[in-house]
Amino acid sequence: MVDGNEVGTMDALDVMANLPQVIPHYQPIFSADEHGVVGYEVLGRFQTETGPVSLGPFFHDETIPEEFRIEVDDVVTKKALDYFLSLDDQTLLIFLNRDANLLMLDRGESFLQLLLTYEAKGLALSRIVLEINEQHFKGDVDQLSHLLTYLRTYGVKVAVDNIAEHSIHLERIGVLSPDILKIDLRELRKTSVHQAYQEIVHSISLLARKIGATLLYEDIETSFQLQYAWRHGGRYYQGYYLAKPAPEVVPRDLLKDLLRQECHRFIQQEKKKLETLYQIAEQFQQRISALLGKYKKAADFNELISLLAGELDDVCFRIYVCDEDGFQQSGNMFKRGGRWELQPQYYMKNWSWRPYFLENIIRMRSRRRGILSDLYTDIETGETIRTYSYPIDERHYLFIDLSYSYLFEHDAHY
Ligand code: CA
Repeated sequence: MVDGNEVGTMDALDVMANLPQVIPHYQPIFSADEHGVVGYEVLGRFQTETGPVSLGPFFHDETIPEEFRIEVDDVVTKKALDYFLSLDDQTLLIFLNRDANLLMLDRGESFLQLLLTYEAKGLALSRIVLEINEQHFKGDVDQLSHLLTYLRTYGVKVAVDNIAEHSIHLERIGVLSPDILKIDLRELRKTSVHQAYQEIVHSISLLARKIGATLLYEDIETSFQLQYAWRHGGRYYQGYYLAKPAPEVVPRDLLKDLLRQECHRFIQQEKKKLETLYQIAEQFQQRISALLGKYKKAADFNELISLLAGELDDVCFRIYVCDEDGFQQSGNMFKRGGRWELQPQYYMKNWSWRPYFLENIIRMRSRRRGILSDLYTDIETGETIRTYSYPIDERHYLFIDLSYSYLFEHDAHY
């Protein structure tokens, strides 16, 4: 009788009986600041008659005894470290994968001892990046965190992989405080990427900045994904679009020209986009200041926003006025089904708790100029919008929520 389990076990025994056929492959990791190779992820392979096959499933199969997996992992690691010690370049980072559950079996002791034997041979442990796979970690995160802190005292860096996919564990990231966060961009290959996924990646890039971690994007298979990684704070890049795993390292400058060209293109596109946004902000600056001049005799803010609604019918769906502390000084003028209505119930609501609110008030007051916001999702309508805000006087600020259709027409929707 052959079931999946048995086949798995037979394969595992096949691997264990043929350890000389267990070999490392190396996938280059490129850096955005030098456009060269900064290091390699070490990946386990098993040589068969039809070529090398990935040992990934072997390492992730929890029905295979732990000591088998640790032994094979150590074979891969030793062969890889011997190889890196033999190279002229002694600065490359070496990313070693370890399952957090296996690592914690002896609290990282055998892993550390292995590294120390290589340090004695001249390998700087600051080149080692322990790539920890923690999404299936069953133990105590605080104890894992202590181990990582301990390993760091030897110079070892820590990377956590598959971040976006397992964002449910995001709170762990804070506890583990890794040096590197790995985000795989597999999701981006789908024809329709869920907006939420992009937002998660964006939040992770902000989180990385806050905790001082470097972002590494992996599984990059297209130029588009590389651009996405570049736009979202990626310093390190890895994937088939750049280089496949191979039994040997590649020249550091292998892709220098390609990466230079790509980067140049990304910069041009991003600048064009930012210039577009700047132009839109300028146009609003002129238009709103002219309108406020025209309607300076309005009796109150409600009258003012209803007059403005008539003028700005093609660009926005909501207008209101707040004071400098965020208390609304008017109702909302809100466009529903093509008709504007005044919603008085918004009077005196407070918006100072919203991100960037007070920061923007201070900016507007000191520069005496309006501000075009970033792209965000309106809570009430669910539409992707931007807000243009403008200082009416020292104490009052106008907020105009621009509709998606307007942004789309003017290339300001991404
Ligand atoms: Ca990995």
